[in-house]
Amino acid sequence: MKSNKLKRFLVSLPAELDFINSVAVRQNVFSALYYAATDEGKYLSTLFPNLSAQEIAALSNWNFPLASTDEKKLFYSYKKRNAVYTHPKDKVCSRLLGAHEPVYRCEECGFDDTCVLCFHCFNKDDHKDHNVTMVVSSGESGGMCDCGDPEAFIKPLNCKCQQKIATSDAMNSAIARIESPLHDTIGIALDYILEVLNFSVQTLPFIHDHVNRDGINLTSEMISNASSLSNGWYSSDASDENSSDLWYLLLWNDECHNVDEAKSAIRAATGASDEKAGRVANEIDSNGRCILVEAKEPNKLLRAKHVVERGGLVASIVSARDYLREVIVESIISWLKDITQFTNNSEFADLSKAILSDHLLEPGFRFSKNFPQDFLCNLTVNKERRCFENGLLLDGEIINLTGNGVKEDIKISDLEKRAHLVLEPTNTTIDWEHSDDESPSDAIASSLQQMTTKSTTNSIARSRLQYLLLFEIRFTKPVRKMLPSILIPPVVADVDKKLIFSKQFIEIYPSLITISALSDREEDLNSLGDISSQILTCPKTVQNLIRTRQTVNVIGPVAQLIEEHSTRWNYDSGYPNFVDIAIANGDRKFHAIKKAVVRGIRDVGHLTDKELAAGTMETFFQKSELVMILLFLRNFQGYWPLQRKTGDHVETEVYDFVVHLEYSIPVLNIAKSIATSPVSKSAVLDAVSSITQYLMLRKLPMKFPGVADFHVSRQLVGFVNPINSLLSYLIQYHGIELFQPLLGSLSKPFMNISDISLRSIVLGAQVKIGFWIRNGISASRQASLYFDAILNDLTYLRDMHLNKIAALIDDPVTTLFNFLDRWELYDWYVNNESYDKTVYEDRFNTISEKFILFIYNIITDRTSFVDSSPEDKLLAKAEMSIAYALCDEPKAYSVLKSLVDSDISELPQFDDILYKCADYQAPTGLIDAGLYRLKPTMFEKLDPLSIFLDPSKFQVVSEALVRSIAKNKDIKEEKVVLVPEITECENNFVNENIARFTKTKEFAKLVYKYLQVALDTSDETYLPQLLHLIHAVLKDDELLHGQKYLNEHFINIPITDLLLTIVESTMSKHVVSKADFLVDQFVLKDQRVIDNLIDCFGEEYVKSYKRKKTDLFETDAEKKKRLAEERKSKIMKKFAKRREKFLDQNKEFKEGVAESMSATESTSELLLRTCVLCGEQESTSDPFGILVSTTETSTLWKLPDAVDKVHLKLAFSSWDEQSDISPRHSSNGKGGIYGTGYGYIDEFKTYLNKNNVTASVLSTCGHGMHYSCYRTASDNRKHYACPLCHNLHDLFLPTYIPPSSGGGFEADEVVKQPINSKYNKITSSSSVSKSRKIIEALVNEDYFNSADTDFRRFARILVDDLMESTYESKYLVGINSNEKFFNNLQNISVLIADTIRMNEIATRLEGVKSLSNFLQQIPGSVKTLLKSLIQCRAIIFECRSSPMLLGNQYDLSFEINSFWNSDQLLDGVFNEVVSLYFQTDESITTLARLGLAKLVTIVIYALTRRLNDQNSSQSFKDTLKVGEPGIVSQETREALVIILGGVTFDLGYDIDLMDVELLDSLYYSIERLALPYLRQIAIFEDVLTSKNLGENTHESIPNLLELEADILKQSRLDSTDALTQALHLPSLTELISSIAFEGHELDYNVYNIVLSAKIPKYISSGILTLDYPGVVKLIDLPDDYTDCITDVETYSVKGGYDRIICLACGSFLKNSRFAPHMSECSTHTNVFYLPRLNVLRICTHIGHNRISIEIPAPYLTVHGEIKKKRVGGKATLNKYRYQYLNKIWLNQGLYGFVTRNLFGTRQSFADLNINVGRDDDMDDDYDSDIFDEREEDEMVDEDPESFIW
Ligand SMILES: [Zn+2]
Ligand SMILES: [Zn+2]
Ligand SMILES: [Zn+2]
Ligand SMILES: [Zn+2]
Ligand SMILES: [Zn+2]
Ligand SMILES: [Zn+2]
Repeated sequence: MKSNKLKRFLVSLPAELDFINSVAVRQNVFSALYYAATDEGKYLSTLFPNLSAQEIAALSNWNFPLASTDEKKLFYSYKKRNAVYTHPKDKVCSRLLGAHEPVYRCEECGFDDTCVLCFHCFNKDDHKDHNVTMVVSSGESGGMCDCGDPEAFIKPLNCKCQQKIATSDAMNSAIARIESPLHDTIGIALDYILEVLNFSVQTLPFIHDHVNRDGINLTSEMISNASSLSNGWYSSDASDENSSDLWYLLLWNDECHNVDEAKSAIRAATGASDEKAGRVANEIDSNGRCILVEAKEPNKLLRAKHVVERGGLVASIVSARDYLREVIVESIISWLKDITQFTNNSEFADLSKAILSDHLLEPGFRFSKNFPQDFLCNLTVNKERRCFENGLLLDGEIINLTGNGVKEDIKISDLEKRAHLVLEPTNTTIDWEHSDDESPSDAIASSLQQMTTKSTTNSIARSRLQYLLLFEIRFTKPVRKMLPSILIPPVVADVDKKLIFSKQFIEIYPSLITISALSDREEDLNSLGDISSQILTCPKTVQNLIRTRQTVNVIGPVAQLIEEHSTRWNYDSGYPNFVDIAIANGDRKFHAIKKAVVRGIRDVGHLTDKELAAGTMETFFQKSELVMILLFLRNFQGYWPLQRKTGDHVETEVYDFVVHLEYSIPVLNIAKSIATSPVSKSAVLDAVSSITQYLMLRKLPMKFPGVADFHVSRQLVGFVNPINSLLSYLIQYHGIELFQPLLGSLSKPFMNISDISLRSIVLGAQVKIGFWIRNGISASRQASLYFDAILNDLTYLRDMHLNKIAALIDDPVTTLFNFLDRWELYDWYVNNESYDKTVYEDRFNTISEKFILFIYNIITDRTSFVDSSPEDKLLAKAEMSIAYALCDEPKAYSVLKSLVDSDISELPQFDDILYKCADYQAPTGLIDAGLYRLKPTMFEKLDPLSIFLDPSKFQVVSEALVRSIAKNKDIKEEKVVLVPEITECENNFVNENIARFTKTKEFAKLVYKYLQVALDTSDETYLPQLLHLIHAVLKDDELLHGQKYLNEHFINIPITDLLLTIVESTMSKHVVSKADFLVDQFVLKDQRVIDNLIDCFGEEYVKSYKRKKTDLFETDAEKKKRLAEERKSKIMKKFAKRREKFLDQNKEFKEGVAESMSATESTSELLLRTCVLCGEQESTSDPFGILVSTTETSTLWKLPDAVDKVHLKLAFSSWDEQSDISPRHSSNGKGGIYGTGYGYIDEFKTYLNKNNVTASVLSTCGHGMHYSCYRTASDNRKHYACPLCHNLHDLFLPTYIPPSSGGGFEADEVVKQPINSKYNKITSSSSVSKSRKIIEALVNEDYFNSADTDFRRFARILVDDLMESTYESKYLVGINSNEKFFNNLQNISVLIADTIRMNEIATRLEGVKSLSNFLQQIPGSVKTLLKSLIQCRAIIFECRSSPMLLGNQYDLSFEINSFWNSDQLLDGVFNEVVSLYFQTDESITTLARLGLAKLVTIVIYALTRRLNDQNSSQSFKDTLKVGEPGIVSQETREALVIILGGVTFDLGYDIDLMDVELLDSLYYSIERLALPYLRQIAIFEDVLTSKNLGENTHESIPNLLELEADILKQSRLDSTDALTQALHLPSLTELISSIAFEGHELDYNVYNIVLSAKIPKYISSGILTLDYPGVVKLIDLPDDYTDCITDVETYSVKGGYDRIICLACGSFLKNSRFAPHMSECSTHTNVFYLPRLNVLRICTHIGHNRISIEIPAPYLTVHGEIKKKRVGGKATLNKYRYQYLNKIWLNQGLYGFVTRNLFGTRQSFADLNINVGRDDDMDDDYDSDIFDEREEDEMVDEDPESFIW
């Protein structure tokens, strides 16, 4: 038999390697196994196609090299590198998720959020419009792809990787022939592993503790010799001889010792150097063990072993053969990994997995020989238990010693005993009958059949897998790391096998959990967690396990494990109490127990999960399951108890409240899940009966009958009572009616149960009032958890519920007394101690407040008794919870969700309920969220004392309710009396009984006493609550007995007297009015109350009271009269109010406080600004100015050439046209999901002026201040944040008060006729009077009247600031002061021009609408900025004789001529016009005309040239086809033909002058290209002519004011006619005619000079560069966020998930590349998008320092919240927010935004990530941010209106 050859090979390999050559093991094992698996090499070439015949021949006849060779060159390392991954269609992918690869999850398709897809399988088309999330795998979670698992997804998915593969039949048949040899080979491999491991026992604690010890007859040598494989296993012609003369001392890895401890042990044992010891320690860490010492005899190693183990490390003595055998095992495991993850051939990998799983699951495995029992005989009396704990077999049998069954005759009273007395092991191992010729898969099939047909409880299949898992702790660390990924995927890939696997796993669960807790040195490597997270999270498996009663294998053993290893018995309660063993002992060896406990609880949680276990929950009401659950929960009943500390404050704060998150929540949820599942009535009755009986077993010491003797402030109390919670849920869920008979026949008062709960309530209250202050943070955090949404439904509400039941069924008076006593108020109540002498001392009032709240909620909140379906109950609760969560202020969606119970937040109807009770308010800024505001009508349903509400919010909420009810009903707030809300409940038993204890004389006395104390002390702490409680009692009486009823005791005990005293007191308004209301109620209900009052207050007083209370005693006629008068006075008051308001407004107006004024509210009065630093007004005597930032815009786009088709086309398209999401110009040329960006770098040709896309510009926040104040405050720092808005600024710009009229140029100055009519004459002229004129028009005359006529103080500022920072461009060399001065002036002119252009470009964003409204879009602050600049430019020239400036009156004419004759070219015609405006005496109209003529000439020339470009002529022609044909007049066409003729003739270009369509296109194109220029001129003219009304308010002249309307009147909105008219310029057609027919002298001259002289001269300087006339904006983003993260093209690239996209140019970049990219793209400020994290990174510069912040990208959920990983729901692009981002990118607002957030305090940093780099670890920090509500409210004023950019 061939297989025997393999066995023999493996057995003899150690000897063949002389027992020492461990390095050669792996290559031999791999060679042998591959050789055997391919039928002795026959099919080897199928697996390794590149293998040469020679290499195959070298293997023949098992004859491969045994010595070491270079393993890399061996055949099995020939693997394809980028093999295409795939998996069989009918199998689960179960691919392990590797490090750094994207993993996908779909909210709609996944069963739950553990269901994931790997990137090979994820198919975007399956998830159209789904909420898909993507994370990057750490590669360490052991997660697997669930593709193909029908339970993981609610619908079948179309795996993407399967679409790629077409299988070839030839290949299939070759693979098919491998099946049989492969099958045998894997079987032998596995068997070898098991046979060897069976004897690898020396590291097991049981063996290790005894082996080689004195007096014990067990040595390492004995074990080693016994472990020789029997020749029953392999054929007889070889032998497994031990290596008798070479023995090793091995030191093993564990998790209890660190490297230093290991090092010192190694040094001690071997005498090695520190360095060598370090190497050994590292080897142990990576290989799991290391040979420490070797010797010829094992005895020689004993001393070293003893030394090295002193500190608790584990060492073993093995023979060299044994060591090599373990190396062989490691190699075999590697080989199994190799074949199951075989990349060369996926069919082979699948076949390997299938065969491996068959072998693993095959039942009935037998070892060829057992571990000798006589070795163990004399070691301990507890042999069986120790074997069980260590995973040792007993005579080859798997044993279980823990309670997976309940003893036969268990009674309820036995539940007080320890678990091992209640539970018992019930396993039986049975032999699987199957013949030898039955294949493993047949055996599996039959076992599956048995499994599903009959219950096979507690029998163990004894499969190889089970043994491997039991032996897991015997493997070395590297093997353990690999093991889950080899064993688990094959057995979960097939649904049937997964079921068998789950059963086999659960069968040995008792052993596995025990081994992991008690025997695992490396508990973090234990695969238990990996396995249960694979199989216990899938519903089909879980349901099958429950139905076949397998859960007993988990719940019982876990309960027992916790009790026996992690609890302390609490002799007060009689329960074992869980303790965190790792914390309690501080010893690392307890970590394994802790870890096992956590795992066990989680596994019980999975098995009892309502959704996973759906339909099978009734099983948990069976006796054995229920008993186990009670034993399990019992460990946590009252656990983690607190005792109040007195005296010194707690010394070290213990942050142990986390136990509630770690243990309480899962445990309580288990109770809740079981109790709130539908089961039969009889089952539930039985269960409740058993549980009440069980709980009543606890004996409470009694003060007197019905009142327990217990002091919360002195004794141990815990917050968590899971069995109480279980009982409460059971009763509430199934309805109290069902249990009424049962509860009525209890042997003891119910308080025997509910008092335990009451203690927790009182504990919480005492902690909350600060009574436990000395217990520190731990206690207060625990109390907060108890009351907060995260725990309250599981704890506090349960405790309240049980106490309500006590109020219902127990005696009312003793109930009240027990309540009082538990709250430690009884002694006060019975006058044993005075209110200030109770245990609470000065906290009497605050504890009473809590106590009253408790009583109030006991009687009013009956929601837990409402007889409706559990679903309806939950919906009603949801509505109330949402309403209460929103009642104080509006909140964001996820904040709201975090405030309500998880039951509610996870409701599918949550959103519907929310929309019903709240209004949505959309977000407005860049980082705020949408908010939900409670609807006004909802307020009336709310009660400030509701149990849903945090009691500390009573006052806030009361006020909010009163306010909103008053507003809603239009009544005064004082008139609002909040009415207690008593839950409507149909159960009369509840209605009649629950408040019984408040109808007693004893209760009336309590109320009286409380009122008395309040009056005596004049302390109102609990008074509002007390009055509300009295109101509630009255209301309850009304509901039961009608309006007129009043409880006798309330009359006999004179409560009304005290109430009236309160009415007469000086207590706060709401207390008095509520008391007043109550007195009215009493009086109305019973006349006798009046008599009492007379007795108390006297006749006179009550008469006067009666007069006041007219409405109670008056007749109808009196009433009418009174009402009429009241109405009258109301109207009078309204009038008075209106007048007051009017006066107020006028006052404000006069003081100039008004923030802004619209132009329509025009007034001639000038609003002087106030300094934001000192608050004083500006004046002509004290320099005043604004703060300015110098930034660089990169939005001065140019018309691109033909390469950028998208932008070329858009340039001539309608402004409404957005570039459709079109292929980005990426290298792969494939379609993308993002829009195309403007190419900043690569698109420029020589005739384009590439440098001028960017330019320095100024921006301001518009806030004004004195220069002196600024100097003091900024402390001479260059960068200074505005104290008001916190934007960072770097320049102080003086602004001068305008003339008292508001200033501005008069019309005649604007339109003045040309002085010169020749182009060159104009450019070379210099003016000495223009500046004077500007100053007269824009600057207040008072400045001149003052002595300081040369503006010296201002000159200083200008020199220091403006001129200093505008000296960067050199238009002339600047060698002398004249040239320097000229450069300065020119710079300021250009700065003015560029700032106007930048702002004009920013106005185009609104599309066609912005064609008309652009002037209105320019903010007042920008106009102030521009005016200030113009003032300064003029003043600098005017005052040039100042020694600080030029120092004389020279007019710079020489420099002007030099400049205009130089090669220097300003960027565009507009800049030239602005520059000429300051330089010449010409009017703005003349210069604008010159500019327009020049621009038209250049445009015609440039277009002609492009039309003649051979490469792009046709496409350019197509591009130009815009506008409706036929509108251009014949005359214009003729004129165009003439001009074109001139251009083409001159240059030898050719154009078809008969092509009418082309002529029209050209006309439209000229018009379009002139549009930006004309708009910019309009803004410039507006700044020059508008009146400055102060406070950033400017009033345009009528011409420009009406421009918007005039533009809208045009038949074509993008026509320039209205613009040219408003600017007194010739229309475009007139101008063209004028040029063509030499109409206007200047026009033709300009044309002629430009065409013949300027273009040739400046062509290489870029004169033909044309400004981009379309909408400038960031690239388009896809609407659906899912598209961003499933962009396959991007993510399939290695590391592609980490790419960022430049929103300016559309480039995709590596995350780290953004900084270098900025130097090529938008240099100063740029925005990048990180799709994976949904984050925008905004980068800008402060000086030369680059700074960046990250803010959430504009993808929001329907609730207006930022899309984060854990935020559910789809996210879509919020257009408003993206538009806003675009706007502030365009108008330089981003700089302010970034700096404001860096240097300001306007908002928290919570949602900003300020950094340059980020690493993945930060993701979670980022995600965990939750908006702070208040911060968001502040952000609301973030809109551009109120905040000036
Ligand atoms: Zn997959
Ligand atoms: Zn797949
Ligand atoms: Zn989906
Ligand atoms: Zn000031
Ligand atoms: Zn400011
Ligand atoms: Zn870019």
